[in-house]
Amino acid sequence: MSSMDTVERPQIPFDNTYARALPGFFVPWKAAEAPAPALLMLNLALAEDLGLDAAWLQSPDGLAMLAGNLAPEGSRPIAQAYAGHQFGGFSPQLGDGRALLLGEVIDRDGKRRDIQLKGSGKTPFSRGGDGKAAVGPVLREYLIGEAMQALGVPTTRALAAVATGETVYRETPLPGAVLTRISASHIRVGTFQFFAARQEWDKVRQLADYAIARHYPAVQSAENPYLAFFEAVVEAQASLVARWMNLGFIHGVMNTDNMTISGETIDYGPCAFMDAYATGTVFSSIDTHGRYAFGNQPSIAQWNLTRLAETLIPVIDPDEAKAIDSLTAALQSFADAYNRHWLAGMRAKLGLASERPGDFNLAMALLATMEAGAADFTRTFRALSAAVMGDDAPARAAFADPAAFDQWLVEWRARLAVETGAAADRAAAMDRVNPIYIPRNHKVEEALAAAVDADDMGPFKALLAVLTAPFVEAAGNEAYAAPAAQSDSPYKTFCGT
Ligand code: AMP
Ligand code: MG
Repeated sequence: MSSMDTVERPQIPFDNTYARALPGFFVPWKAAEAPAPALLMLNLALAEDLGLDAAWLQSPDGLAMLAGNLAPEGSRPIAQAYAGHQFGGFSPQLGDGRALLLGEVIDRDGKRRDIQLKGSGKTPFSRGGDGKAAVGPVLREYLIGEAMQALGVPTTRALAAVATGETVYRETPLPGAVLTRISASHIRVGTFQFFAARQEWDKVRQLADYAIARHYPAVQSAENPYLAFFEAVVEAQASLVARWMNLGFIHGVMNTDNMTISGETIDYGPCAFMDAYATGTVFSSIDTHGRYAFGNQPSIAQWNLTRLAETLIPVIDPDEAKAIDSLTAALQSFADAYNRHWLAGMRAKLGLASERPGDFNLAMALLATMEAGAADFTRTFRALSAAVMGDDAPARAAFADPAAFDQWLVEWRARLAVETGAAADRAAAMDRVNPIYIPRNHKVEEALAAAVDADDMGPFKALLAVLTAPFVEAAGNEAYAAPAAQSDSPYKTFCGT
């Protein structure tokens, strides 16, 4: 052993609490070799938040880590086990089939964050898959996650996207890539289901203890910490899905393995933001029955939480009937929690600082009018600040026939009349919650096509820059705010496999 000052400090101060605390919950594994790694994107601001050395990340060793070719000192790469309900059907074994958790770091705010590679090759959980990811889906996940972050929605983040230099085969040959994903943790509803399905209740309890310590330490002092933990997850998910619904976001694959315990949005595959408001909107090419349609998302979240509740029954109380009673009550609180978050979001979008009993109906009436008039969700809400300042034209322009909307404007103005405060302040506050720029599907496709087909990252970087400041109107960015021209083929996205 050499003397202290010749011992190299690890480049990333990895911790591995998951691997240490939870033996039997994962398989130690190694990433596949990427033949010719090339950095596509590096998130410098996030690197700084994580306390990582951006210069090192761009060095040959840093790139090798981001490509999966080097497990740096302190990292203990593992593939995590999980199960899950996919489109309602239970798979007892899913797990990281193309991802590896490298380890954890403590960020600048003192929060523990996972660093995970996605697309890093086959693992014992790969089933029939190749363990790989393609440049398009990796960049899509990068972009949408960063857009969600800027919109104020809890989300996993993207630290880097690296092209592997390898071809992956889907319907067509595609360039391969690895995403470096950052999250509060990768514990999912499906992680609990994995052990519950095997009736390994000690492991379920161990996982709950770990999740509590990491995400909800305040519940440790509750009378029944496991019940309080469940209530905290219900609250976090109610809040999260309400944010999605306030923004017109459709996740697309709300399987229980894609629902986090932390309350972060995870796994941006066939997700998209709506243009014209329609509760039945589905973008995913694999969601043939519309299970994960926009308007179903709150009830699906509650369905998923019911699956989580089932895993906790023996942990909550040795008396099964008592456990079920407590969990049922907690589950029933989802609707109230969701409505509370959703309505708070809607009030802000409508410029209502005070609370009145008719507010829920006022918001619902606008949505009904938008749905009937096929009004663009984002544009309509954004234009309401102009209406506050006396110009109704931009909002009316979102409707083919604004007659019904004009009626609604009268009701809204009557409600605004009981608000105090200056109109200009109200309009400014509305602009801080009603984005002007969202990842419009045609702009996302354009950026991904340039990156994949023409090796041109320019459109992607330009779009990312716009989406990083979604509430601030900038001259020259009009095209990013506009809905796509009408086309006859409805937009579809494909699962990021
Ligand atoms: P996802 O649809 O990405 O949420 O993945 C669902 C499950 O399929 C997870 O267990 C993934 O690890 C696995 N999976 C998805 N794509 C692949 C792939 N190309 N190779 C191996 N496993 C995969
Ligand atoms: Mg997934």
